[in-house]
Amino acid sequence: MLVVMRHGASEDEVRAVVQVIEELGYQARPMPGRQRTSVGVVGNDGRVDSSRLAALPGVVEIIHVTKPYKQVSREWRAESTVVRLPGGLEVGGGDVIVMAGPCSVETEAQIIEAALAVREAGAAVLRAGAFKPRSSPYAFQGLGLEGLDLLRRARQETGLLIVTEAMDPESVDVVAEVADIIQIGARNMQYYSLLKRAGRVAKPVLLKRGLSATIQELLLAAEYVLAEGNPNVILCERGVRGFDSATRNLFDLSAVPVVHALSHLPIIADPSHGTGRREMVIPMARAAVAAGADGLLVEVHPHPERAWSDGAQSLDPTQFQQLMREARPIAEAIGRRIAEPTGARS
Ligand code: PEP
Ligand code: MN
Repeated sequence: MLVVMRHGASEDEVRAVVQVIEELGYQARPMPGRQRTSVGVVGNDGRVDSSRLAALPGVVEIIHVTKPYKQVSREWRAESTVVRLPGGLEVGGGDVIVMAGPCSVETEAQIIEAALAVREAGAAVLRAGAFKPRSSPYAFQGLGLEGLDLLRRARQETGLLIVTEAMDPESVDVVAEVADIIQIGARNMQYYSLLKRAGRVAKPVLLKRGLSATIQELLLAAEYVLAEGNPNVILCERGVRGFDSATRNLFDLSAVPVVHALSHLPIIADPSHGTGRREMVIPMARAAVAAGADGLLVEVHPHPERAWSDGAQSLDPTQFQQLMREARPIAEAIGRRIAEPTGARS
């Protein structure tokens, strides 16, 4: 439930609302907005009797949130969330943020070459996994801590921000030391102790849609992170299991406008895992920008034929340049811009 205060309500009036919510046995979350303050009620399973709150001075409206998720919903917060990154980049503002790089960190030479190539083409964030969730236990599992160290070097060398995956609650802290954005992968979308742990770090979280997750399940997973106190969640559509093996996954671009309607959180799109095939990545990246995605997550490898994971869906640097060239006018056609890299080194 959401208690909406009138424009210009006093601090005392807000405090009185908080007090009544707490007396009723719930927690209050005051949220100052551009227009007016609202106070969210959490800790209730069902409908709260709002009569005591409706009568308080300064209260103009009580909104009963109708969805199973609350804090991620547009009902809870009408304004879109803008996730701020070091160096002034914003995800969910006007700009489309491109995150690109190899599936996995392999060697120092590989990650530096990849970072320089994606920066040259205009990506703002370097993606690469050090901890890799692989379908087979015999496949390359990632370099782990050594991979994080190489990402740190790539960041120093290029100034690119880093998005990389944490696979379990225990590794969230070490990943957070290097990452500007902590990725939670599709296979772990419902790993609730990981979501809760990520909700307690001071870094944005990139939450990928599960292989067979509905949008409601994706939003409920994000709710876990917000409920623990981290409001900076970026969702990611990466394709769901379909019935057709022509593509690796069924890249559900309709998730972009659906999420924008249901939630204030930004959503980016991953056409690499979404299609699994290099030749389909550029057209679907263009489509994702046209659909209103707040960013792209794209696999780019300096030598895709030699990649240790996901080579078949990785673009080479020249193809990635083409992607960027073609995405720019599409962003502009819908009043947006592809963000420029900032060279943040903080
Ligand atoms: C990845 O981004 O390399 C990855 C493993 O993605 P997903 O979790 O979407 O499969
Ligand atoms: Mn991958």
